[in-house]
Amino acid sequence: MGAGVAGLRAAVELARHGDVLVVTKESVAESNTHYAQGGIAVAMEGQVDVALHLEDTVNAGDGIVCRSAAQALVSEGPIRVAELIEWGAHFDSEDGELLRTREGAHSLARILHANGDATGAEISRSLVTFARVHKRIRFAEWTMVTGLVVANGRVIAVDLLDRENMPNRISAGSVLIAAGGAGQVYSDTTNPSVATGDGIALAAQAGAELADMEFYQFHPTALSLPGVPRFLLSEALRGEGAYLRNDRGERFMERYHPMLELAPRDVVARAITREGMGATPGESRLVHLDMRHIRTIDLHHRFPGISAFLKEHGLDLHRDLIPVRPAAHYLMGGIKTDLAGRTSLVGLYAAGEAACTGVHGANRLASNSLLEGLVFGARAAQAMLADNLPLVVADAPLQVPKPLSEREEQRVEEHIAELQASMWAYAGLLRQESTLRDGFAAQEECAAGLARLAERGKGSRRLAEAQALSRVAHAILHSALARQESRGAHFRNDFPQRDDERFLNHSVFGREDHVIFEKW
Ligand SMILES: Cc1cc2nc3c(=O)[nH]c(=O)nc-3n(C[C@H](O)[C@H](O)[C@H](O)COP(=O)(O)OP(=O)(O)OC[C@H]3O[C@@H](n4cnc5c(N)ncnc54)[C@H](O)[C@@H]3O)c2cc1C
Repeated sequence: MGAGVAGLRAAVELARHGDVLVVTKESVAESNTHYAQGGIAVAMEGQVDVALHLEDTVNAGDGIVCRSAAQALVSEGPIRVAELIEWGAHFDSEDGELLRTREGAHSLARILHANGDATGAEISRSLVTFARVHKRIRFAEWTMVTGLVVANGRVIAVDLLDRENMPNRISAGSVLIAAGGAGQVYSDTTNPSVATGDGIALAAQAGAELADMEFYQFHPTALSLPGVPRFLLSEALRGEGAYLRNDRGERFMERYHPMLELAPRDVVARAITREGMGATPGESRLVHLDMRHIRTIDLHHRFPGISAFLKEHGLDLHRDLIPVRPAAHYLMGGIKTDLAGRTSLVGLYAAGEAACTGVHGANRLASNSLLEGLVFGARAAQAMLADNLPLVVADAPLQVPKPLSEREEQRVEEHIAELQASMWAYAGLLRQESTLRDGFAAQEECAAGLARLAERGKGSRRLAEAQALSRVAHAILHSALARQESRGAHFRNDFPQRDDERFLNHSVFGREDHVIFEKW
């Protein structure tokens, strides 16, 4: 399920041994992977470099990175990236040497990039091209997974809805969820519209455990122009020397962290939020990214995609201050898996942003997620092959949903918009018990409204997405309420300190909305 970096990498591995169906909600090019700009972090310089990458990953995760997962990521990363280059991915290079940049919380420059700021599109292009020539890989594009079929505690099939809203059921020896993140749960997000957390919601509905759902990374610098999408302004801009300035023109990061603009993302995002608050509630002040002092690099050449987007809106990196504010960007949590992608349900595996191996802890190190997709996509595929579960034919009847009326589809959109706004207001960068409880009230109202539509036997892609968003919101709210401390991306105004005595653990969200804390 999913044709981003994790799903495609897994498909290539699996196809060496059997038939693979890659299901994707839109075209293969529509994924978070496709929009990744800055690059892929990888330690290509031997053991010292690998050890430093491990320490940077562990430090960014604020105390709860699963060290064995991070070790797998940084040590297998170079092999996976070398393999990708062999399969046709072109990273930017000069005189035969790969170019590397630095991003926040990395101790050195180790980020490879492609076509300047279009790294994800190149990774996606090369993997899709490589997978498409493989006879044993079939693609079902514009097809949505709407359900997991469970029999005797094992996932044996998936339910699909094609672009004509026609249902279908496919039996599978094993199912990999590589359906990406859930940025659409927030009104402000850098994620494309497909990122509605479907895989996470379906896994939870089928009975799989989720973990670390309170940790949503808010990217500090998404473009902030009225009526313009929250376009990402990559961390690589700060890696190349961009400053952040408040509305008085001050470089304010020195008040927040010794690493200044390259401090961990959560620190920078909260600093921008605080600098952006006006003197009275509701009043906001502009924060800007400033690259006007950079003379040694041609910013248009280095960041062609970003420069082109800004130009459409009358802005220029060399000439202008660029208005920014944070937006929901990356979910550290997800479906709880072991290091081989196995979930708590037999037959169900997860990899990439939809999964939680604990590799990111409370805060992902910039550019570690494309690498995660490669490393854990391959690992999950290897586990699926090793487990070699037999195919079981699902005999439960397939329900054919009745279409929603235009008015009902509109009501679904309203529920989604209300949920997104409430999650931004109540479970965003700065949280506290009272706001999280307000968030629950809004989420419950949304869930009840959606249930009334579904009860009448109706179904559509948007209704399924709305239900997924509501389930993901529910898990985020529960996990955020249970973690009575501040750590990484999760900040509680009512518990502003890190509490290692009680919470140096991962949260696990399971059946009956129960949250427990576990050491991994
Ligand atoms: C703007 C932006 C910039 C980023 N920049 C970077 C960067 O520079 N470096 C970095 O490391 N990371 C970056 N990230 C994060 C990174 O891109 C993602 O975490 C990573 O690509 C996730 O890969 P994935 O394979 O897990 O999921 P995705 O790439 O999101 O793929 C998910 C797939 O699942 C499919 N899908 C979803 N639901 C269903 C369903 N119900 N049925 C069928 N298919 C479904 C989607 O259509 C899609 O094909 C960025 C993210 C964004 C949004």
